[in-house]
Amino acid sequence: MDVFPYPVARIGIIGGGQLGRMMVKAAKRLGCTCVVLDPTPGSPAGQVSGHQIVGDYHDPAKLRELCESCDVTTFDIEDIDSDTLEELAREGRRIYPSPRVLAVIQDKLTQKQALTDAGIATAPFIPMPEPTPEAFAAFGYPLVQKARRGGYDGRGVVVMRSAADYPQHLPVPSLVERFIPATKELAVLVARGRDGDCRCYPVVEMQMRPAGNMLDMLLAPAEVSRVTAAAAASLAQRTVESLDGVGVFGIELFLTETGDLMVNEVAPRTHNSGHHTIEANMTDQFEQHLRAVLGLPLGATDQLSPAVMINLLGAPGHRGRPVIKGLAAALAIPGVCVHIYGKAAAAPLRKMGHVTVLDRDLASARHKAERVRAIIEITAEDHP
Ligand code: ADP
Repeated sequence: MDVFPYPVARIGIIGGGQLGRMMVKAAKRLGCTCVVLDPTPGSPAGQVSGHQIVGDYHDPAKLRELCESCDVTTFDIEDIDSDTLEELAREGRRIYPSPRVLAVIQDKLTQKQALTDAGIATAPFIPMPEPTPEAFAAFGYPLVQKARRGGYDGRGVVVMRSAADYPQHLPVPSLVERFIPATKELAVLVARGRDGDCRCYPVVEMQMRPAGNMLDMLLAPAEVSRVTAAAAASLAQRTVESLDGVGVFGIELFLTETGDLMVNEVAPRTHNSGHHTIEANMTDQFEQHLRAVLGLPLGATDQLSPAVMINLLGAPGHRGRPVIKGLAAALAIPGVCVHIYGKAAAAPLRKMGHVTVLDRDLASARHKAERVRAIIEITAEDHP
């Protein structure tokens, strides 16, 4: 019967960062309450939910406390003790995406193996349990080394053009893969419900910062042909189906010079490439994720306006209580939507917020986003 008590559901969120924060807001809109697990008291998501368990993502007791106090548990990060989650799932706790899928994806080597086994195109790779100059040379340059665990936002990834770059290697269990000279980096968000229903968001283009492998500017929709857009959506959907994923997944893709698509990596969670969906799409990625994990019908993913998104990063050389310069000037520009994440301390290159710009066409939105980037600066009181 289509009748729900209030709260509609108690949702546990492992990870109290910006993704969790935006998820809590969407949850409240739907009449749900949230408990957040994060080691930092007053985390961005904890502030909004009003209920946080302070603890580590690898602490079995805290993970148990969270899952046992909620109807459904999900996460906004990947670096979690998935063994404990698997045990809780076996005991009947509802956890989505499944701890099994999380375990496969959180290790970049098993993730790549799963993609290859499913026949999903991805850069050729080999395991590199112990990096040595000889092993790298035998694989051949240029190559990309990726740490099996713990990397995000470009940490844990090293692009090496030649043997001269070997000294920058990461001395940890890794994989190495072929360097793909991509003409564009694309992303497709895929939502998959508990019943297997799948919805893709229109493909977006991620322009990366050359230094640091971090997202610089997101263009939505991507300027690609209809054929490429459809192929990207179909590849992303096949990827999530092959993993039997439930929830929103971010699928990062390379578009090569020959027009082929390859999966770079899979995020088993809401994604930086979908922040614009809050203002620009019929259903935003956070609400969509909740619909999927709660077994509710998925929403329409249509994009209502061209959008460009930039991250607001902590300025170099500044640490401490954030100071936001240029906020009023940015807000004076029509179509500028500012999100500040409520992090207690700024640090160089830390994601402190983001801005989505809506405009009639992508070129104007982009122009405004560049203006905003020049106007807003996040420094800190206690510099340095
Ligand atoms: P992260 O987990 O940090 O997001 P990614 O695997 O997405 O790591 O790599 C970060 C960035 O590094 C990518 O967005 C891309 O710019 C670059 N990169 C990763 N793999 C390759 C590759 N095989 N060829 C070329 N560039 C790559």
